[in-house]
Amino acid sequence: MNEEKKAPHNAPSVSFIALGGEEDVTRNMYLYEYKNQILIVDCGLGFPDETMLGVDLLLPDITYLLDAIRKKGKKIIGLVLTHGHEDHIGGLPFILPQLPQFPIYASPFTAALANEKLREFGLPASIQVFTFGDTEISLGDFMVSFIRVTHSVPDSANIFIKTPAGNFFHGSDFKFDLTPADGKRSDFQRMAQCAQEGVLALMSDCLGSDRSGHTPSEENLGVNLEREMRDARGKFFVTTYSSNIARLNQIIAAAENLHKKVCFVGRSVIKVKQIADRMGYVHMKAGTEIQIGEVKNFKNTQVVLVVAGSQGQENSALTRIANNEHKDIKLTPGDVVVFSSDPIPGNEVAINSLVDSIAKRGAKAVYSTAAVAFHVSGHGSSGDHMLLIALTKPKYLVPISGTYRHMVFYRELAQKMGYTTKEIFLVENGQEVLLSQQQARLGKRVSVNNVYVDQVSGEEVEHFVVRDRERLGKEGIAIVMAEINTADGQLITKPEIILRGSALSDTQNISAGLMHELEKKLSAQKEKVTNWAHLRRIIGDTTGRYLYKKFHTRPLVLPVVIEV
Ligand SMILES: [Zn+2]
Repeated sequence: MNEEKKAPHNAPSVSFIALGGEEDVTRNMYLYEYKNQILIVDCGLGFPDETMLGVDLLLPDITYLLDAIRKKGKKIIGLVLTHGHEDHIGGLPFILPQLPQFPIYASPFTAALANEKLREFGLPASIQVFTFGDTEISLGDFMVSFIRVTHSVPDSANIFIKTPAGNFFHGSDFKFDLTPADGKRSDFQRMAQCAQEGVLALMSDCLGSDRSGHTPSEENLGVNLEREMRDARGKFFVTTYSSNIARLNQIIAAAENLHKKVCFVGRSVIKVKQIADRMGYVHMKAGTEIQIGEVKNFKNTQVVLVVAGSQGQENSALTRIANNEHKDIKLTPGDVVVFSSDPIPGNEVAINSLVDSIAKRGAKAVYSTAAVAFHVSGHGSSGDHMLLIALTKPKYLVPISGTYRHMVFYRELAQKMGYTTKEIFLVENGQEVLLSQQQARLGKRVSVNNVYVDQVSGEEVEHFVVRDRERLGKEGIAIVMAEINTADGQLITKPEIILRGSALSDTQNISAGLMHELEKKLSAQKEKVTNWAHLRRIIGDTTGRYLYKKFHTRPLVLPVVIEV
């Protein structure tokens, strides 16, 4: 049962298991176990692909963790969060309520974002702030400290974890930008100090390990953005990740240089900007910002709009604008939309259809080319990864937060630096690695499954709805299958409705009523379908609204759209 007892040597060991974050990049969650104590690093959400109909988000599977607490008498001694990206903090509101209480720490901006998220779900804002440079925190037998790194969200950290069995450097998402837009460089001195204290293993971000050299600095992006902004003949839209405050400041600076006004559009952009503003991280002159209702008072060429939705998310502000469904902002010929972002793997299809929708309005979509960059990755390239290895001098290496391909590239880099394959562990989620001063080896395998949650964020959703599980239990599930004509986006036949666990039964009657509702909604936009995800959402929303209005029931609606 307990693999540690079978170890040939008696040196104390630490068990490392990823519940998420290996192979699939997102939903990062890692466990470090020493004796009966468990330290958790990160608690992220995952983003599934197109094939997972009706479900939008994935969580790490915490079955193993729950069993360890309930059946094996283990104790969670703390949770630390490396940075404020959704794939590192987004799982908190779903997972914390399932666990006993323990201290949670994060850097200032990470804690602000995570606490805001918990508040939105009506949960206590329980995350405590670790300020860079503070003395280490003791959590059970673990000693933990945060080390500043450059990434694409303010106050990103790597974590140095000391245990009686050895020290670990948790090298979560990072790159080494020596001239970052916010001037806050990675703390190389601390990394070298960790090496002096001894690093048994480095768990390292490996996402950019297939790129050669170093990830370029962000410093030139501001110049490129400003040039494009100056040349725009209409409104200037720019979309980036909401949490990239440094990029936001570059956009604001360019707009101020050109005497343009800046308007923030979309719930996620506004929310994160407000948090950053409160912390003094946003640099904007008084009078630069205008509200959405004021845009019409200015000439098109005077306006810069920072818009949420760089990944083509179905319900984002940018998708609504591009589909001419936004009540305040219209995309008109001459407008420019700059993508200051990279597609997150899996979002390519959604982004392509978004770009098509923009072109249809006569506007121009602009993205990075080899010659002109509007975005630089937040992840290191092979040179950055090798530098972290050189600085921390670990005995063993475990690449994390990458696909299998990235792990293999990472292993090759490490081999070039003299590591043997026995010192590098390429693991899947649920695969334990046991590490002690004497040896490191694979341990048990725990099963980790896909755990889906219903989409919970959206432009108009202010209060988060019940979790799907709860909703399923109370109101059941409604699957609506609609055949849609690709040529004009209209229904071909009556939609079929399948109900499970619902009090409703007369599906024939519901189907007829629903057909009427859908026809009304869809006929408003008779055109060739390019964005199926968007259409699926309209069908899901209309069905949900209809069932509530007519029958006062809110089942979980899973729209299945068949293109004909
Ligand atoms: Zn990240």
